[in-house]
Amino acid sequence: MEVFHTIADYKNLKLPVSIGFVPTMGALHTGHASLVQRSLNENETTIASIFVNPTQFNEKKDFDSYPNTLEQDLKLLKNLGVDLVYIPDVSDMYVLEPQIHVQHPMMNNVLEGKCRPGHFDGVALVVTKLLNRIKPDRAYFGKKDYQQLKIITDLSRDLDLGVEIVGCPTVRESSGLPLSSRNLLLEAGQRAELEVFYDGLKKGLDHELEINDLIYEINALLASTVDMYFEYLEILETTTFLPSERIDEGCRIFFAIKLPQLRIIDNFSVTKKL
Ligand code: AMP
Repeated sequence: MEVFHTIADYKNLKLPVSIGFVPTMGALHTGHASLVQRSLNENETTIASIFVNPTQFNEKKDFDSYPNTLEQDLKLLKNLGVDLVYIPDVSDMYVLEPQIHVQHPMMNNVLEGKCRPGHFDGVALVVTKLLNRIKPDRAYFGKKDYQQLKIITDLSRDLDLGVEIVGCPTVRESSGLPLSSRNLLLEAGQRAELEVFYDGLKKGLDHELEINDLIYEINALLASTVDMYFEYLEILETTTFLPSERIDEGCRIFFAIKLPQLRIIDNFSVTKKL
């Protein structure tokens, strides 16, 4: 496995055809590893990137405190069999203040886009830059960040980037909680409450309720917790991201749970099991 820091170095490499690319912000876990594994299965060369993108953070303190586990990350990527790791500097990624913006206005008005103004503009620009630099055949993103996946799928199509965007399933803890490096911040009591929440959620989904009843039941699950609340809880059509009128294959539940020290974002199909 080789590490490179500049695109000039990258261009000097003679790579076999079919490149799979897995962009990350580091602090890697099994969820990231599943994307890498999928790329390894489908491409001759797999490149991962580690870049904590300052422009997608709403608050500087979140950017400054983003976990850095580089040594461990490189070990994990090497063990998985990744060929190359791209670790650009911020000053190389943004040589000058960007004048061009990549925006998905519809997505900026719903869910994460509404809660985190400017976040997706930062994501869309950096992913466009990364895809233009690496020029992969396929790029892998988690359905855990479903809205992000939709934006990147749309931008690759609309800007003719010629990259196949592959959405990968969410890897979860046995409780149902999606894996995230931030889960380490959870206190034991909060973790126990989340286990009860996910258990209730699975049961609620098994009951094939009407939309309003399902939303009511899920809301009730968090109501008894000490310090958690929904920033949003919505069932939307996955093509339009408009509220769904009935529960069918074309919709998904999206929610963000706010705790004092972190947010948990999650989504899943309403018609399939967790
Ligand atoms: P991040 O480093 O958080 O920007 O995530 C890099 C990629 O990993 C994104 O495409 C995420 O959607 C994906 N990802 C993060 N957590 C998970 C998970 N638990 N399961 C699957 N993919 C994930």
